[in-house]
Amino acid sequence: MDILDKIRILSDSAKYDVSCSSSGSSRGSIKGGVGNAAAAGICHSFTADGRCISLLKILMTNFCIYDCAYCQNRISSDVERAAFAPEELITLTMSFYRRNYIEGLFLSSGVIVSPDHTMELMIRIIKTLRQRERFNGYIHVKVIPGASSHLVHEAGLYADRVSVNIELPEETNYKALTPEKNRLAILKPMKQIADNIMENKEEKRISRFAEDFVPAGQSTQLIIGATPTTDGKILSLSQNLYTGYHLKRVYYSAYIPVSTNKLLPQLTAPPLLREHRIYQADWLLRFYKFTAGELLREHENLDVNVDPKTQWALSHMELFPMEVNKVSYEMLLRIPGIGLTSAKRIIRARKLASLTYEGLKKMGIVLTRAKHFILINGKYHGNFAMRPEFIYEAISEKKDQIQLSLFEEIDHSLSSLNASSRDIILDRQNLSQILADQTIIRKSLGGDF
Ligand code: SF4
Repeated sequence: MDILDKIRILSDSAKYDVSCSSSGSSRGSIKGGVGNAAAAGICHSFTADGRCISLLKILMTNFCIYDCAYCQNRISSDVERAAFAPEELITLTMSFYRRNYIEGLFLSSGVIVSPDHTMELMIRIIKTLRQRERFNGYIHVKVIPGASSHLVHEAGLYADRVSVNIELPEETNYKALTPEKNRLAILKPMKQIADNIMENKEEKRISRFAEDFVPAGQSTQLIIGATPTTDGKILSLSQNLYTGYHLKRVYYSAYIPVSTNKLLPQLTAPPLLREHRIYQADWLLRFYKFTAGELLREHENLDVNVDPKTQWALSHMELFPMEVNKVSYEMLLRIPGIGLTSAKRIIRARKLASLTYEGLKKMGIVLTRAKHFILINGKYHGNFAMRPEFIYEAISEKKDQIQLSLFEEIDHSLSSLNASSRDIILDRQNLSQILADQTIIRKSLGGDF
């Protein structure tokens, strides 16, 4: 088989792995070396279904002795197979890099012979790249579950980032869908890597000559929608991985139906919107100090029609509206439509002058959402009288909502409105009373909202 065929087969097989971010590495250039992970990381491109892939995101081989039901490379799958010899992949990486096609390598593989044998071949590739070719670009390598701990450690010495894919969020699904793997075989190397990273940080603190160990941290991937696992359980698992294993990222991959296995759902399309909402919730865990339990209970799913922060806010209307001129930074972050950057801008700007509606707009606050949850100098600019069901209708991203055409006439009289709209208008007349109630609630809670 010629090299072009191998590239075609093995880069296509790698596209289902989404944990390819190159962020977080600060490996600079070296004298006489090739590559620099600090500047750009891996070059990304996007497949037709919106997935991010890098130009050299590739499998060493798609042969596999395992039979994971959700994977197109499983032993029972009838796909075209190929394998690179380590030297072929080294030459390919270097020549792609020299031609400026790529900024790094994302190397994964099916399991051949045994986890240790596969891991040894992968280590040979990345070690030769670093030591013989003096390749200093970004390398992300997959750890093969079940590989010996000394091999896991060795891989971490040459890679910027490593990842061990959990894939199935619940242990109960392993036996039926991936009988050769178990949760312990995945969590064990993850824990080892987490411990080794901490030790390496300590060594580097003592000596600047200490060698790097996985400087960009570790990540994992969870498949969304292949099992009945709820979003609540998925977020709870992610939270445990961030806190217990210090993961840099948990990636979520909407299940793409690649199998007719009766244990797997026969989807017509991957649940990409659900995947997107889980990413948004993950962002809230990592940067907005939300906990998984605050966002969802374990048996619940995210509402795909609104973002998770709005979903949370709508079920905590007793905390709103918050006065943007007074509320703390932490609580600003809980207001839908206000992000990390805009919250910082608000804190800075209000030291100089009182904030106005126009001023907030200029700061980039998404007022179409935020106005339903804030007061600006005591004034409420929302138009649904703090009624969560109407706010939900107004800001949900339902695709089936009927949109008026530009030339449709609108009858503004109260009698022409449907019952809900009339309710809204009548409710607005009660708004001052509602705001007064909010003030009492805030005082009774004693918080700085
Ligand atoms: S071990 Fe990896 S490559 Fe092999 S079948 Fe399972 S998921 Fe696919």
